[in-house]
Amino acid sequence: MPDPVPVLKLLAKAIRRWEEPAVEKISEETKEDPFRVLIATMLSAQTKDAVTAAASARLFAVARTPRTMAKLRPSRIQKLIYPVSFYRVKAVHVRETCRQILSRFGGQVPATMEELLTLPGVGRKTANLVLILSHASKDNICVDTHVHRIANRLGWVRTRNPTETEHALYRVVPRRYWPRVNLYLVTWGQNVCRPVYPKCGACVVSTLCPRVGVK
Ligand code: SF4
Repeated sequence: MPDPVPVLKLLAKAIRRWEEPAVEKISEETKEDPFRVLIATMLSAQTKDAVTAAASARLFAVARTPRTMAKLRPSRIQKLIYPVSFYRVKAVHVRETCRQILSRFGGQVPATMEELLTLPGVGRKTANLVLILSHASKDNICVDTHVHRIANRLGWVRTRNPTETEHALYRVVPRRYWPRVNLYLVTWGQNVCRPVYPKCGACVVSTLCPRVGVK
């Protein structure tokens, strides 16, 4: 199995030329506010970064706490977040999540995986990102489709879905890199190692990459 460390070191330098992913930027702009990181991550699923950023900005301009957002009707949230993917379902999940944060967690975004996963529309990807960005967890790897795809292309894992990839990565990536795997591979996936036509000729890790499954 190729060693992930040399690749991660090269990517850490190479990604500096690009903008950070939308949720990372929102995390920095909001001083790691767990609520806005949670909501932005929910909106980001299967949605381009520019759309996530704009939708999050519109929604947070109207409401930026669970209490104020829970008062919005789903139809209003829908209009604010359109055109994120699955905006109708996400609007319902966002409001219900706000209500449950108020009723079950005293208005605070929970800080454990188990509790986060009980919120509507919150899966492991969202929970891991909230734990990493807003609760400073060093014990999580956040795996989305970019991380899943690139970890397989690099030959670090041989897995069928992001959940399998997450558990496999805990075994092969040194712990000190866990919180940063998502930032490095998502930025690489958006700009170089794209789902279709990856730019292998312009890739700084091409000599370390077996390009598993790349045609
Ligand atoms: S060499 Fe190609 S497949 Fe491998 S990481 Fe770079 S862009 Fe992706």
